[in-house]
Amino acid sequence: MEDLKANKIDYVKIGDKRFNLVVFKKENFNNDITSQIDFQQSMISIADVLHEDEAKKSIMHNAMHGLLTFMGEDELEENEAVVSRIANGMLMMMKDNQELFKYLMKTD
Ligand SMILES: [Zn+2]
Repeated sequence: MEDLKANKIDYVKIGDKRFNLVVFKKENFNNDITSQIDFQQSMISIADVLHEDEAKKSIMHNAMHGLLTFMGEDELEENEAVVSRIANGMLMMMKDNQELFKYLMKTD
């Protein structure tokens, strides 16, 4: 999570929306939730207790909820298993093809 702050990463832009990326203190909440996306408040929050790897997966997972909603894929968006598989698969592919993704992301 320190990486997020160090790199000043504090939002996820999805289409025309900007979701604030917030780390919350798990000890303040008496439930099992460790991450979530709030469409009303345009916010993705992740628990401070998550390890780096889990935090990355959680951010991607919630970004996928946002992306599928943006694309109007409400049925897919409501399927937690599908959202997780797409998110984890995307993350795996991005890590395994860093040079390719750098090339794909170049705008000039
Ligand atoms: Zn989910």
